[in-house]
Amino acid sequence: MVILAVESSCDETSVAVVRDGKEVLSHIILSQIDIHAVFGGVVPEIASRNHVVHITRVFDKAITDANIKIDDIDLVAVTKGPGLIGSLLVGINAATTFAFAHQKPIIGVNHLVGHIYAANIEHDIKFPALALLVSGGHTELIYMKEHMDFRLLGTTKDDAVGEAYDKVARTLGLSYPGGPIVDQLASQGKDTYDLPRPFLDRTEYNFSFSGLKSAVINLVHNAQQRNEAINIPNMCASFQASVLDVIIEKTKLAATNYNVSQIIVAGGVAANKGLRNRIFNEIPEKEIIIPSMEFCTDNAAMIGAAAYHQYLLKGALPNYLLGGDSTLSIEDQ
Ligand code: ATP
Ligand code: MG
Ligand code: FE
Repeated sequence: MVILAVESSCDETSVAVVRDGKEVLSHIILSQIDIHAVFGGVVPEIASRNHVVHITRVFDKAITDANIKIDDIDLVAVTKGPGLIGSLLVGINAATTFAFAHQKPIIGVNHLVGHIYAANIEHDIKFPALALLVSGGHTELIYMKEHMDFRLLGTTKDDAVGEAYDKVARTLGLSYPGGPIVDQLASQGKDTYDLPRPFLDRTEYNFSFSGLKSAVINLVHNAQQRNEAINIPNMCASFQASVLDVIIEKTKLAATNYNVSQIIVAGGVAANKGLRNRIFNEIPEKEIIIPSMEFCTDNAAMIGAAAYHQYLLKGALPNYLLGGDSTLSIEDQ
C-alpha cells in the first residue's frame, strides 16, 4: 500500500511517500528554523504562512522523488493534531484537496502516534511495549498492549523536556532550537552544578521540569548579579544529567512494573546523544529501539508509518471533512 503522508503541525513542512508503513520512497522536510530563530521560538502565524507558501512544492517534490504516478497512491494521511492549529489546517487543507481532486481515501493521524511509529520504520515494535515520548510539547510514558492501543501512564505536570531544553538554552544565550546545542555542549562539560532531580524519588510515572529550568535560571541570574561567569558546557552537562537521571529512571520503573518486551524512545528529544548513549547501558535488561535522527524530529514519514497500521485497523474516512485538533491526546484516535 502506497501512502502519501503530510505533516505540518509546527514549523516543518513535510511530505513523504511510504510503502506498507516501512519503505520510505521519498521524504521531504522543509524546516523553518532559520525564520523563527530570530524570535527565539516558533511564531505560530509566521509558521502557518510559510506552510502555505511552500506546501504545494513539497507535495510535488515528494511525488517526483518517489518516482511514482499519482495513480499509484492508495491513501492520503495527514497530521490532524496536536499542534499549532493554523499550521495543522494548512496541511489538512492541502491533503484533503489533493485526496478529493484525485479521489483517494484520506485519514487523519495523531502526531504523537506518528512519533512512536517512527520507531517502526527501521525496527519492529514488539508488544507489550513502553513508549517514552520526549518532544517539544510532550513528555509521556505510554503503554502499548498491541498496535494502535495507547494507555498514558504518566506525563509532565508542567514543562515538556524539549521545552525545558529550549528555555535553558535561551537563558544561556544559545540559539534556537536549544536541544541540539545543549546536547553538544553537555558532551564537552562536567556535571558540576547542583541541580534538582524532580520527582526522582516518587514511585509514579509523572514528570516535572519547570523547577529544574527555574533552578538553572536562578543560578545564571545570581552569577550575573555577582559578575561571575557561568561555565556554559558544565551548566549544559549538569542540566542534561538531571533530565536524563529522571527520564531514564522512570522509564526503567515503568518497563519493569509493566513487564514490557520492548522500550521505544521517540520524539525530538530522542535525538539527544546523551540519552541515546545512557539508556542502553542503564536498562540493559530490555530491548530498546530508537528511530534514526531523521525520523526523531517532526517529519511526514512517521505519519505514513502510523497511517498504515491505523488504516489496517480502522479504514479511511467516509468523506473529506477532516478537522484539526490542537490538543489531541495520545489516547484519542
Ligand atoms: P510535539 O511533538 O510534542 O508536538 P514538537 O513537534 O515541537 O512537539 P519535536 O519536533 O518532536 O517537537 O521536537 C523538537 C524538540 O526536540 C525541541 O524542543 C528541540 O530542542 C528538541 N531536541 C531536538 N534535538 C535534541 C537533542 N539533541 N537534545 C535534546 N533536545 C533535542
Ligand atoms: Mg520543529
Ligand atoms: Fe513533534
